[in-house]
Amino acid sequence: MAMVYNWQLGRAMTFPYDEKHPRRQFAFVFNTNRCIGCQTCTMACKSTWTFSKGQEYMWWNNVESKPYGGYPQHWDAKLLAMLEAANPGRQSWNAATADVGSKPYGAFEGKTIFEAGPTHVGPEGAQVALGYLPTDAEWRHPNIHEDTAAGGRWNEGQHGASAQLPEHRVWFFHLARICNHCTYPGCLASCPRQAIYKRPEDGIVLIDQERCRGYRKCVEGCPYKKSMYRGTTRTSEKCVGCYPRIEGKDELLGSDGAPCETRCMSACVGKIRLQGLVAIAEDGTWSHDPANPLYFLIRERRVALPLYPQFGTEPNGFYIPPRWVPRGYLTQMFGPGIDHALEQYSCPDRELLAVLQLFRTQRQILFRFAIERGPKVAEIPVILPSGRERVQEIYNDTVIGFNKFDKEVVRITIEEPTFERLKEHHLNSI
Ligand code: SF4
Ligand code: SF4
Repeated sequence: MAMVYNWQLGRAMTFPYDEKHPRRQFAFVFNTNRCIGCQTCTMACKSTWTFSKGQEYMWWNNVESKPYGGYPQHWDAKLLAMLEAANPGRQSWNAATADVGSKPYGAFEGKTIFEAGPTHVGPEGAQVALGYLPTDAEWRHPNIHEDTAAGGRWNEGQHGASAQLPEHRVWFFHLARICNHCTYPGCLASCPRQAIYKRPEDGIVLIDQERCRGYRKCVEGCPYKKSMYRGTTRTSEKCVGCYPRIEGKDELLGSDGAPCETRCMSACVGKIRLQGLVAIAEDGTWSHDPANPLYFLIRERRVALPLYPQFGTEPNGFYIPPRWVPRGYLTQMFGPGIDHALEQYSCPDRELLAVLQLFRTQRQILFRFAIERGPKVAEIPVILPSGRERVQEIYNDTVIGFNKFDKEVVRITIEEPTFERLKEHHLNSI
Protein backbone atom coordinates (compact mmCIF):
# COMPACT_ATOMS: atom_id res chain seq x y z
CA MET A 1 0.00 0.00 0.00
CA ALA A 2 1.23 3.49 -0.91
CA MET A 3 0.65 6.63 1.14
CA VAL A 4 -1.27 9.39 -0.64
CA TYR A 5 -2.47 12.81 0.51
CA ASN A 6 -6.20 13.42 0.77
CA TRP A 7 -6.92 17.14 1.21
CA GLN A 8 -10.53 16.49 2.20
CA LEU A 9 -9.34 14.37 5.14
CA GLY A 10 -6.52 16.76 5.98
CA ARG A 11 -4.04 13.88 6.16
CA ALA A 12 -2.23 11.16 4.29
CA MET A 13 -3.91 7.76 3.92
CA THR A 14 -3.17 4.36 2.43
CA PHE A 15 -4.15 3.55 -1.17
CA PRO A 16 -3.07 0.62 -3.38
CA TYR A 17 -1.42 2.85 -6.02
CA ASP A 18 1.07 5.72 -5.95
CA GLU A 19 -0.20 9.25 -6.36
CA LYS A 20 -0.71 10.36 -9.93
CA HIS A 21 -2.98 13.25 -10.77
CA PRO A 22 -4.79 14.52 -13.87
CA ARG A 23 -4.08 17.99 -15.30
CA ARG A 24 -7.69 18.97 -14.77
CA GLN A 25 -10.40 17.30 -12.73
CA PHE A 26 -14.07 16.82 -13.65
CA ALA A 27 -15.97 18.27 -10.68
CA PHE A 28 -19.43 19.59 -9.92
CA VAL A 29 -21.49 21.45 -7.34
CA PHE A 30 -25.10 20.49 -6.62
CA ASN A 31 -27.25 22.91 -4.63
CA THR A 32 -29.57 20.62 -2.65
CA ASN A 33 -31.65 23.61 -1.56
CA ARG A 34 -32.97 23.91 -5.09
CA CYS A 35 -33.51 20.30 -6.16
CA ILE A 36 -37.20 19.55 -6.74
CA GLY A 37 -36.77 15.82 -7.34
CA CYS A 38 -38.22 16.02 -10.85
CA GLN A 39 -35.82 13.33 -12.17
CA THR A 40 -35.25 15.18 -15.44
CA CYS A 41 -31.52 14.62 -14.92
CA THR A 42 -32.13 10.92 -14.33
CA MET A 43 -34.05 10.55 -17.58
CA ALA A 44 -31.56 12.68 -19.53
CA CYS A 45 -28.84 10.21 -18.55
CA LYS A 46 -31.02 7.14 -19.03
CA SER A 47 -32.08 8.16 -22.53
CA THR A 48 -28.46 8.84 -23.49
CA TRP A 49 -26.47 5.94 -22.06
CA THR A 50 -28.52 3.23 -20.35
CA PHE A 51 -31.60 2.49 -22.48
CA SER A 52 -30.47 -0.93 -23.72
CA LYS A 53 -31.13 -4.50 -22.72
CA GLY A 54 -29.45 -5.44 -19.46
CA GLN A 55 -29.47 -1.85 -18.23
CA GLU A 56 -33.01 -1.88 -16.88
CA TYR A 57 -31.92 -1.37 -13.27
CA MET A 58 -29.00 0.84 -14.14
CA TRP A 59 -29.31 4.50 -13.15
CA TRP A 60 -25.97 6.29 -13.47
CA ASN A 61 -27.75 9.46 -12.32
CA ASN A 62 -30.29 9.02 -9.58
CA VAL A 63 -32.11 11.34 -7.19
CA GLU A 64 -33.06 9.88 -3.83
CA SER A 65 -35.14 11.26 -0.94
CA LYS A 66 -33.10 11.46 2.23
CA PRO A 67 -33.05 10.22 4.93
CA TYR A 68 -34.89 7.00 3.98
CA GLY A 69 -34.36 6.70 0.24
CA GLY A 70 -31.30 5.30 -1.46
CA TYR A 71 -30.19 3.66 -4.68
CA PRO A 72 -29.30 0.92 -4.06
CA GLN A 73 -31.37 0.85 -0.93
CA HIS A 74 -29.47 1.69 2.31
CA TRP A 75 -26.14 2.12 0.43
CA ASP A 76 -24.79 4.76 2.79
CA ALA A 77 -26.25 3.46 6.05
CA LYS A 78 -24.77 0.03 5.34
CA LEU A 79 -21.27 1.29 4.67
CA LEU A 80 -21.31 3.69 7.62
CA ALA A 81 -22.25 0.73 9.83
CA MET A 82 -19.37 -1.32 8.39
CA LEU A 83 -16.88 1.49 9.00
CA GLU A 84 -18.16 1.93 12.53
CA ALA A 85 -17.77 -1.81 13.18
CA ALA A 86 -14.19 -1.65 11.88
CA ASN A 87 -13.30 1.28 14.12
CA PRO A 88 -15.90 1.52 16.92
CA GLY A 89 -16.55 4.99 18.31
CA ARG A 90 -13.58 6.54 16.57
CA GLN A 91 -14.91 7.67 13.20
CA SER A 92 -14.51 11.32 14.13
CA TRP A 93 -13.09 14.62 12.88
CA ASN A 94 -10.70 16.97 14.61
CA ALA A 95 -12.05 20.26 13.27
CA ALA A 96 -9.72 22.25 15.54
CA THR A 97 -6.82 21.55 13.17
CA ALA A 98 -8.63 23.13 10.19
CA ASP A 99 -6.58 25.32 7.88
CA VAL A 100 -8.35 27.01 4.96
CA GLY A 101 -5.62 26.21 2.44
CA SER A 102 -4.37 22.72 3.27
CA LYS A 103 -7.09 21.07 5.40
CA PRO A 104 -10.32 23.07 5.17
CA TYR A 105 -12.37 20.62 7.26
CA GLY A 106 -9.73 19.71 9.82
CA ALA A 107 -8.40 16.16 10.07
CA PHE A 108 -10.36 12.92 9.88
CA GLU A 109 -9.20 10.62 12.67
CA GLY A 110 -11.19 7.51 11.77
CA LYS A 111 -10.55 4.82 9.19
CA THR A 112 -11.27 5.22 5.49
CA ILE A 113 -12.53 2.34 3.34
CA PHE A 114 -8.90 1.69 2.28
CA GLU A 115 -7.67 1.55 5.87
CA ALA A 116 -10.56 -0.60 7.13
CA GLY A 117 -10.63 -2.96 4.11
CA PRO A 118 -7.58 -5.09 4.96
CA THR A 119 -9.07 -5.89 8.39
CA HIS A 120 -12.31 -7.10 6.80
CA VAL A 121 -11.59 -10.66 5.83
CA GLY A 122 -14.27 -12.58 3.95
CA PRO A 123 -14.37 -15.87 2.03
CA GLU A 124 -12.21 -14.29 -0.71
CA GLY A 125 -9.65 -12.89 1.75
CA ALA A 126 -9.10 -9.32 2.92
CA GLN A 127 -10.69 -6.44 1.02
CA VAL A 128 -8.70 -3.70 -0.71
CA ALA A 129 -11.53 -1.29 0.03
CA LEU A 130 -14.19 -1.96 2.63
CA GLY A 131 -17.46 -2.64 0.85
CA TYR A 132 -20.32 -4.98 0.09
CA LEU A 133 -22.26 -6.22 -2.90
CA PRO A 134 -25.89 -5.01 -2.83
CA THR A 135 -28.57 -7.64 -3.39
CA ASP A 136 -30.72 -7.65 -6.54
CA ALA A 137 -33.67 -6.47 -4.44
CA GLU A 138 -31.70 -3.43 -3.27
CA TRP A 139 -31.12 -2.31 -6.88
CA ARG A 140 -34.74 -2.80 -7.85
CA HIS A 141 -36.33 0.46 -6.64
CA PRO A 142 -34.40 3.55 -7.71
CA ASN A 143 -36.69 5.97 -5.91
CA ILE A 144 -37.94 4.07 -2.89
CA HIS A 145 -39.38 6.21 -0.05
CA GLU A 146 -39.84 9.14 -2.42
CA ASP A 147 -40.69 12.34 -0.52
CA THR A 148 -41.01 10.49 2.80
CA ALA A 149 -40.23 12.85 5.66
CA ALA A 150 -38.56 12.12 8.97
CA GLY A 151 -39.03 13.91 12.25
CA GLY A 152 -41.61 14.69 14.91
CA ARG A 153 -45.36 14.65 14.67
CA TRP A 154 -47.39 17.57 13.38
CA ASN A 155 -48.59 19.56 16.39
CA GLU A 156 -52.17 20.80 16.38
CA GLY A 157 -52.34 24.57 16.70
CA GLN A 158 -48.70 25.03 15.76
CA HIS A 159 -49.15 25.51 12.05
CA GLY A 160 -45.79 26.03 10.45
CA ALA A 161 -43.81 25.37 13.60
CA SER A 162 -42.54 22.09 12.16
CA ALA A 163 -41.12 23.91 9.20
CA GLN A 164 -39.20 26.85 10.59
CA LEU A 165 -35.52 27.56 10.18
CA PRO A 166 -32.83 27.02 11.33
CA GLU A 167 -33.99 23.36 11.41
CA HIS A 168 -37.29 21.84 10.40
CA ARG A 169 -38.65 19.23 12.76
CA VAL A 170 -40.25 17.35 9.88
CA TRP A 171 -37.83 17.13 7.00
CA PHE A 172 -36.51 15.40 3.93
CA PHE A 173 -34.46 16.50 0.96
CA HIS A 174 -33.55 15.33 -2.52
CA LEU A 175 -30.01 14.08 -3.02
CA ALA A 176 -29.01 13.95 -6.68
CA ARG A 177 -26.09 11.62 -7.34
CA ILE A 178 -23.75 10.60 -10.12
CA CYS A 179 -20.29 9.02 -10.03
CA ASN A 180 -17.95 11.39 -8.19
CA HIS A 181 -14.98 10.63 -10.47
CA CYS A 182 -13.02 10.29 -7.27
CA THR A 183 -9.36 11.21 -6.91
CA TYR A 184 -8.76 7.85 -5.18
CA PRO A 185 -11.56 5.68 -6.61
CA GLY A 186 -12.68 2.69 -4.58
CA CYS A 187 -13.81 1.02 -7.81
CA LEU A 188 -10.38 1.39 -9.41
CA ALA A 189 -8.57 0.23 -6.27
CA SER A 190 -10.70 -2.91 -6.01
CA CYS A 191 -10.49 -4.09 -9.61
CA PRO A 192 -8.21 -7.17 -9.82
CA ARG A 193 -7.95 -6.79 -13.63
CA GLN A 194 -6.81 -3.15 -13.60
CA ALA A 195 -9.66 -2.50 -15.99
CA ILE A 196 -10.52 0.86 -14.45
CA TYR A 197 -8.53 3.99 -15.17
CA LYS A 198 -8.59 7.72 -14.56
CA ARG A 199 -8.03 9.92 -17.59
CA PRO A 200 -5.00 12.23 -17.30
CA GLU A 201 -6.71 15.08 -19.15
CA ASP A 202 -9.88 15.43 -17.07
CA GLY A 203 -9.85 12.87 -14.23
CA ILE A 204 -12.92 11.03 -15.57
CA VAL A 205 -12.96 7.43 -14.28
CA LEU A 206 -13.78 4.81 -16.93
CA ILE A 207 -14.11 1.02 -17.08
CA ASP A 208 -12.32 -0.59 -20.03
CA GLN A 209 -15.05 -2.89 -21.36
CA GLU A 210 -12.45 -5.10 -23.10
CA ARG A 211 -10.55 -5.82 -19.90
CA CYS A 212 -13.55 -6.13 -17.55
CA ARG A 213 -14.50 -9.72 -16.69
CA GLY A 214 -17.49 -8.82 -14.53
CA TYR A 215 -16.04 -9.87 -11.17
CA ARG A 216 -18.05 -6.99 -9.63
CA LYS A 217 -15.23 -6.04 -7.31
CA CYS A 218 -15.77 -2.41 -8.37
CA VAL A 219 -19.43 -2.67 -7.38
CA GLU A 220 -18.29 -3.94 -3.98
CA GLY A 221 -15.50 -1.37 -3.62
CA CYS A 222 -17.31 1.82 -4.70
CA PRO A 223 -18.66 3.29 -1.47
CA TYR A 224 -21.22 5.33 -3.43
CA LYS A 225 -22.39 2.27 -5.37
CA LYS A 226 -21.97 4.01 -8.70
CA SER A 227 -20.44 1.09 -10.55
CA MET A 228 -23.16 -1.27 -11.79
CA TYR A 229 -23.21 -4.77 -13.25
CA ARG A 230 -24.85 -5.55 -16.59
CA GLY A 231 -25.94 -9.14 -16.85
CA THR A 232 -26.28 -9.24 -20.64
CA THR A 233 -22.64 -8.29 -21.30
CA ARG A 234 -21.24 -9.65 -18.02
CA THR A 235 -19.32 -6.47 -17.46
CA SER A 236 -19.63 -3.56 -15.07
CA GLU A 237 -20.56 -0.11 -16.32
CA LYS A 238 -20.60 3.33 -14.79
CA CYS A 239 -21.08 7.02 -15.54
CA VAL A 240 -18.71 8.02 -18.34
CA GLY A 241 -18.90 11.73 -17.52
CA CYS A 242 -20.42 12.29 -21.01
CA TYR A 243 -16.80 12.49 -22.15
CA PRO A 244 -17.53 13.46 -25.78
CA ARG A 245 -19.18 16.60 -24.42
CA ILE A 246 -16.31 17.27 -22.01
CA GLU A 247 -13.87 16.92 -24.91
CA GLY A 248 -15.92 19.45 -26.90
CA LYS A 249 -16.42 16.84 -29.61
CA ASP A 250 -20.14 16.19 -29.49
CA GLU A 251 -21.13 16.73 -33.11
CA LEU A 252 -24.80 17.21 -32.23
CA LEU A 253 -23.87 20.31 -30.25
CA GLY A 254 -22.01 21.77 -33.23
CA SER A 255 -19.16 22.22 -30.84
CA ASP A 256 -16.00 24.16 -31.58
CA GLY A 257 -13.92 22.22 -29.07
CA ALA A 258 -15.24 24.06 -26.02
CA PRO A 259 -16.15 21.57 -23.26
CA CYS A 260 -19.88 21.24 -22.56
CA GLU A 261 -21.62 20.14 -19.38
CA THR A 262 -22.93 16.56 -19.18
CA ARG A 263 -26.48 15.64 -20.17
CA CYS A 264 -27.69 15.44 -16.55
CA MET A 265 -26.25 18.88 -15.77
CA SER A 266 -27.60 20.50 -18.94
CA ALA A 267 -31.11 19.16 -18.39
CA CYS A 268 -31.49 20.24 -14.74
CA VAL A 269 -34.80 22.02 -14.35
CA GLY A 270 -34.12 23.28 -10.84
CA LYS A 271 -30.84 24.93 -11.88
CA ILE A 272 -29.08 23.18 -9.03
CA ARG A 273 -26.01 22.06 -10.99
CA LEU A 274 -22.76 23.72 -11.98
CA GLN A 275 -20.02 21.66 -13.55
CA GLY A 276 -16.39 22.46 -14.08
CA LEU A 277 -12.88 21.31 -14.81
CA VAL A 278 -10.55 22.47 -12.03
CA ALA A 279 -6.81 22.78 -12.56
CA ILE A 280 -4.76 20.27 -10.54
CA ALA A 281 -1.14 20.77 -9.53
CA GLU A 282 1.37 17.94 -9.85
CA ASP A 283 1.12 17.10 -6.14
CA GLY A 284 -2.66 16.72 -6.42
CA THR A 285 -3.62 20.00 -4.78
CA TRP A 286 -6.04 22.32 -6.53
CA SER A 287 -4.11 25.06 -8.32
CA HIS A 288 -5.01 28.45 -6.85
CA ASP A 289 -7.67 29.71 -9.26
CA PRO A 290 -10.26 31.87 -7.43
CA ALA A 291 -11.77 33.12 -10.71
CA ASN A 292 -12.90 29.56 -11.53
CA PRO A 293 -16.53 29.29 -10.33
CA LEU A 294 -16.02 25.83 -8.82
CA TYR A 295 -12.78 26.75 -7.09
CA PHE A 296 -14.50 29.84 -5.73
CA LEU A 297 -17.49 27.93 -4.32
CA ILE A 298 -15.54 24.96 -2.92
CA ARG A 299 -12.17 26.33 -1.84
CA GLU A 300 -12.69 30.09 -1.39
CA ARG A 301 -16.17 30.38 0.14
CA ARG A 302 -16.40 26.70 1.23
CA VAL A 303 -20.15 26.78 0.62
CA ALA A 304 -20.12 23.37 -1.15
CA LEU A 305 -18.90 20.20 0.59
CA PRO A 306 -17.89 16.68 -0.49
CA LEU A 307 -20.34 13.79 -0.01
CA TYR A 308 -19.17 11.46 2.78
CA PRO A 309 -15.54 12.64 2.68
CA GLN A 310 -14.74 10.14 5.46
CA PHE A 311 -14.98 7.27 2.96
CA GLY A 312 -11.56 8.46 1.73
CA THR A 313 -11.99 8.42 -2.05
CA GLU A 314 -11.74 12.25 -2.29
CA PRO A 315 -14.97 12.55 -4.29
CA ASN A 316 -15.16 15.40 -6.79
CA GLY A 317 -18.89 15.98 -6.36
CA PHE A 318 -19.70 18.79 -3.89
CA TYR A 319 -23.01 19.80 -2.35
CA ILE A 320 -24.42 23.01 -0.95
CA PRO A 321 -26.17 21.41 2.04
CA PRO A 322 -29.94 21.80 2.63
CA ARG A 323 -30.58 24.59 5.13
CA TRP A 324 -33.44 22.97 7.05
CA VAL A 325 -31.98 19.56 7.91
CA PRO A 326 -30.73 18.57 11.43
CA ARG A 327 -27.05 19.43 11.73
CA GLY A 328 -25.96 16.06 13.06
CA TYR A 329 -27.29 14.33 9.97
CA LEU A 330 -25.61 16.86 7.68
CA THR A 331 -22.28 16.60 9.52
CA GLN A 332 -22.32 12.83 9.09
CA MET A 333 -23.03 13.25 5.36
CA PHE A 334 -20.84 16.25 4.46
CA GLY A 335 -18.26 16.49 7.26
CA PRO A 336 -17.56 19.26 9.75
CA GLY A 337 -17.70 22.13 7.22
CA ILE A 338 -21.48 22.29 7.61
CA ASP A 339 -21.85 25.31 9.91
CA HIS A 340 -19.57 27.46 7.79
CA ALA A 341 -21.26 26.40 4.54
CA LEU A 342 -24.76 27.11 5.85
CA GLU A 343 -23.70 30.46 7.27
CA GLN A 344 -22.28 31.43 3.86
CA TYR A 345 -25.34 30.29 1.95
CA SER A 346 -27.83 31.95 4.32
CA CYS A 347 -26.33 35.38 3.74
CA PRO A 348 -24.10 35.30 0.66
CA ASP A 349 -21.66 38.15 0.20
CA ARG A 350 -21.63 40.19 -2.99
CA GLU A 351 -19.32 37.90 -4.98
CA LEU A 352 -20.90 34.66 -3.80
CA LEU A 353 -24.37 35.90 -4.72
CA ALA A 354 -23.07 36.68 -8.20
CA VAL A 355 -21.47 33.26 -8.71
CA LEU A 356 -24.63 31.50 -7.47
CA GLN A 357 -26.42 33.03 -10.48
CA LEU A 358 -24.28 31.02 -12.89
CA PHE A 359 -25.93 27.67 -12.20
CA ARG A 360 -27.43 26.30 -15.41
CA THR A 361 -27.21 29.49 -17.40
CA GLN A 362 -24.97 28.07 -20.09
CA ARG A 363 -24.32 24.69 -21.70
CA GLN A 364 -20.59 25.28 -22.03
CA ILE A 365 -18.35 24.68 -19.03
CA LEU A 366 -17.28 27.94 -17.43
CA PHE A 367 -13.56 28.29 -16.73
CA ARG A 368 -13.63 31.85 -15.39
CA PHE A 369 -16.06 34.43 -14.11
CA ALA A 370 -15.86 38.21 -13.77
CA ILE A 371 -18.16 40.68 -12.05
CA GLU A 372 -19.17 44.15 -13.25
CA ARG A 373 -20.32 46.19 -10.29
CA GLY A 374 -23.82 47.68 -10.21
CA PRO A 375 -25.84 49.88 -7.79
CA LYS A 376 -27.08 48.76 -4.38
CA VAL A 377 -30.73 47.72 -4.72
CA ALA A 378 -31.69 46.31 -1.32
CA GLU A 379 -30.74 45.79 2.30
CA ILE A 380 -32.33 42.74 3.90
CA PRO A 381 -32.02 41.75 7.57
CA VAL A 382 -31.08 38.08 7.87
CA ILE A 383 -30.95 35.75 10.88
CA LEU A 384 -28.05 33.36 10.39
CA PRO A 385 -28.25 29.67 11.42
CA SER A 386 -26.12 30.55 14.44
CA GLY A 387 -28.80 33.02 15.56
CA ARG A 388 -26.65 36.06 14.79
CA GLU A 389 -28.20 38.88 12.80
CA ARG A 390 -26.74 40.43 9.71
CA VAL A 391 -27.88 42.84 7.03
CA GLN A 392 -27.46 41.49 3.54
CA GLU A 393 -26.62 44.18 1.03
CA ILE A 394 -27.71 43.33 -2.49
CA TYR A 395 -26.14 44.98 -5.51
CA ASN A 396 -27.39 44.63 -9.04
CA ASP A 397 -24.04 43.36 -10.27
CA THR A 398 -23.52 41.60 -13.59
CA VAL A 399 -21.71 38.27 -13.59
CA ILE A 400 -20.00 37.13 -16.77
CA GLY A 401 -18.87 33.58 -17.56
CA PHE A 402 -16.09 32.59 -19.97
CA ASN A 403 -15.48 29.26 -21.69
CA LYS A 404 -12.23 27.32 -22.18
CA PHE A 405 -11.10 29.76 -24.89
CA ASP A 406 -11.82 32.75 -22.63
CA LYS A 407 -14.76 33.70 -24.80
CA GLU A 408 -17.72 35.29 -23.03
CA VAL A 409 -20.62 32.83 -23.11
CA VAL A 410 -22.99 34.14 -20.44
CA ARG A 411 -23.86 37.50 -18.89
CA ILE A 412 -26.51 37.78 -16.21
CA THR A 413 -27.60 40.38 -13.67
CA ILE A 414 -28.51 39.76 -10.03
CA GLU A 415 -31.91 41.35 -10.51
CA GLU A 416 -33.88 39.62 -13.18
CA PRO A 417 -34.81 42.22 -15.78
CA THR A 418 -38.54 42.81 -16.22
CA PHE A 419 -40.13 43.98 -19.44
CA GLU A 420 -43.52 45.64 -19.57
CA ARG A 421 -45.55 45.07 -22.68
CA LEU A 422 -47.61 47.90 -24.10
CA LYS A 423 -51.30 47.51 -23.25
CA GLU A 424 -52.43 47.14 -26.84
CA HIS A 425 -50.03 44.25 -27.33
CA HIS A 426 -51.87 42.22 -24.70
CA LEU A 427 -54.84 41.78 -27.00
CA ASN A 428 -54.78 38.38 -28.66
CA SER A 429 -51.20 37.97 -27.53
CA ILE A 430 -51.59 34.22 -27.14
S1 SF4 B 1 -18.00 7.27 -7.17
FE1 SF4 B 1 -17.58 5.06 -7.16
S2 SF4 B 1 -17.62 4.48 -9.34
FE2 SF4 B 1 -17.30 6.71 -9.23
S3 SF4 B 1 -15.05 6.98 -9.24
FE3 SF4 B 1 -15.74 7.01 -7.08
S4 SF4 B 1 -15.46 4.89 -6.43
FE4 SF4 B 1 -15.46 4.83 -8.70
S1 SF4 C 1 -33.15 17.82 -12.91
FE1 SF4 C 1 -32.20 19.08 -11.28
S2 SF4 C 1 -33.98 19.68 -10.01
FE2 SF4 C 1 -34.67 17.92 -11.22
S3 SF4 C 1 -34.18 16.12 -9.91
FE3 SF4 C 1 -32.40 16.43 -11.25
S4 SF4 C 1 -30.98 17.65 -9.99
FE4 SF4 C 1 -33.03 17.84 -9.05
